[in-house]
Formats: sequence, C-alpha cells, structure tokens
Amino acid sequence: MANIKSVRTKVWNWTGPTVPPQPNFCTNAGDVLWDRGDAMQSFRFHQWLTCEVEADSGEIGIGNAALAPPLVKEAIDRYYTPLIIGEDPFDYSYIWEKMYRKTLAWGRKGIGMTAISAVDIAIWDLMGKLVNKPVFKLLGGRTKEKIPVYYSKLYSRSIPDMQSEAEEAKKNNYQGYKTRFGFGPKDGMHGMRENIKRIEAIREVIGYDVDLMLEAYMGWNIDYSRRIIPKLEKFEPRWLEEPVIADDMHGYAELNRGPIPISGGEHEYSLFGFRQLLDMQAVSIIQYDTNRVGGITAAQKINALAEAYQLPVIPHAGQMHNYHMTMSNTNCPISEYFPVYDVEIGNELFYYIFEGDPDAIDGYLQLEESVSGLGISISDKHLGNFEIIE
Ligand SMILES: [Mg+2]
Repeated sequence: MANIKSVRTKVWNWTGPTVPPQPNFCTNAGDVLWDRGDAMQSFRFHQWLTCEVEADSGEIGIGNAALAPPLVKEAIDRYYTPLIIGEDPFDYSYIWEKMYRKTLAWGRKGIGMTAISAVDIAIWDLMGKLVNKPVFKLLGGRTKEKIPVYYSKLYSRSIPDMQSEAEEAKKNNYQGYKTRFGFGPKDGMHGMRENIKRIEAIREVIGYDVDLMLEAYMGWNIDYSRRIIPKLEKFEPRWLEEPVIADDMHGYAELNRGPIPISGGEHEYSLFGFRQLLDMQAVSIIQYDTNRVGGITAAQKINALAEAYQLPVIPHAGQMHNYHMTMSNTNCPISEYFPVYDVEIGNELFYYIFEGDPDAIDGYLQLEESVSGLGISISDKHLGNFEIIE
C-alpha cells in the first residue's frame, strides 16, 4: 500500500511566440462590453497548471488544469494539499468528498472545483501507475477499437483561408469538423451574413458525409440565436455549441427545443450542475472537461447520469484526461481533437508541456494497453519558452 506523501504544483507561463489575435476570430462573452479593449481576453489562456501527487513508494501522478492557474495553484497549496497528505490514493472517492465538503462554502464551482479536478486527475494517474494499468482500464475498460476524432479549429478568417484549412485537414479523414463564428450581435445583419457564408463555404469543401459542428463560445444572445438558427438549419450542423452564456440555462433549454441540437457544459461544474442541465433538457450533447468538472471521479458520475438520459458525452478539448473517459464509456462516441499548431488561443500549451498525447491518424487515435496511468509525462523540450512558478 502506498500513501500520498507530497503534492507539487507549478504554473507554466508561456513566454514563447504567439499568433497575434485577429478581429472577428471567435465570438466570446466579452463581445457585449462597450469597452472591449482586448476583445479576445475571455478566450485566451497562455498559462497552464501541473499538479504532481507523489506516493511514499516514489510513483508520481500528474494532473493539470488550464483555468486561472495562479489562483488554482494557491487553492491547492493552501487548502487541498493538507487534506490529502497521508491518504491512500485508492480511497479516491472519499478523498474527493473530503476536498469537496471541506471547501464547499467557496469551492463548489470555478477555482475550487478546478483545483479539485487537477488533484483528482493526478490521483487517477497515480493509481494507474501503482497497478501498472492505463486509467481507462480502471474505469471499466476498452469500449472501442480506437477513438474517432473531430478536427477542432477553423476559426473565423477570410473564406479562402478557411476553405484551404478545411482542404488541408480533410487529408487526415476526420469524422467531423468544428468551426467558430466570428460575428455576433454587435456585427448586425452584415455580420450574420458573413457567418452564414463561411458555413456554406466549409460545407462546400467537406461535403455532407461528415459532421459539421458550430461554436459561438457564448458570444451570442438568445435573440441573435433565434434569428440565425433557421438560416443555419439547411447546413445540417451536428450541433450548435454554447450559443449563449453558460449561466443562461433557460436560454439553452429554449434553443434546444429548436431544429439544431445544442451542446454545452465546458463551463459547468460537478454532478449537480449537470443534473440541472439535464433536468431542464438544456443540452443534447454534454461537453464537460475533466480538468474543470471535478476530475475523473466526477466525470465518471456525469457519464452515468447522461447514460440514464441517453445523451452522448463528448468532452471538451480531447487531451489525455478526457480520452480515457471516452475510451471507457459507451456513451462517448467521438473526441474533440485540437491539431498541434503554434500558440494562439492557449489550448495548444498542453502539447508543449506534456509528451504522450496521441496524434490523430486517419481520423482516429489510439490509447495503448501497455501504459501505466494516463500515459503522459512532463516534457523538457520547450522549457525555454516557459516561465515556471513553483
Ligand atoms: Mg467549446
């Protein structure tokens, strides 16, 4: 038996080159502000957090989080670490409840739940390493020969640029493609037409035999959504993602009664948050991120809840902590996949910090049976492009 000896958190600040933000690149919650300043501020993350949980036998489990890393680090160091030192990692459910219940007054959502997520993911990685099994084997095992993925990029740019990006991506035979809207309520009728032209242009390239997902990243409102949805229907979108802000569950529920399935959940937390979304029939596709929602322990419960509602779960962002959920649950049909590229939004940092995340080959990715834990390790290849705060 091994017990938890120490917890080590690091904030990784990207100091390397970044792709400069473009106008009308992706709508977001900040678009409504009169003084928008940096219009992409609510959509860019150039920091990441790693959380290493070490057992007294020497094995180290690695967790991560991408939301507000300096604050999540402080929360782990100050509040969560003292709660888990000396515990047996296989008491993961008890540890989770202890972290949740002892910080409930402030920890239920946001920073607190993100911190719990990072610690919990590290504990699952540690359990896998202690028994020499991949995490998906601890969660119920393989439910697919390999994981189909959809290409997630196609930010709003000029139509020729977006079409050539889709042409290039098509060579890898993805099962679906997700694009982002660049225009919202502030851009009026002209912007609405610009949005629609781009969807039409992408369908021209990818055809109708693969899925097309549409993403507004909370940059619209209910009125705008009601007006544009009938114009989008003919392009047969697989889903419309986060059309309104995450707190507007009634808005989600209304739109989800319309012709295009609504997806969301990457900004929702815990089993209780998802119960609310499902009770209200607010989403047709569930998109928690394991590194926000409460870790693998919480995500597995949400999968069970979703199964009872017979709804698919397609976690936000892909990445190893989510791929293991997808592999081990029959109601996770496909994974999101961010192709590796220069640092733009910040999702890319994952691939500069960790080694071992699988590449998509011919539209699929594979999780190996031979790895222990999640199968990722912290890389030293790009250390020169990070400032690390311990
Ligand atoms: Mg999204």
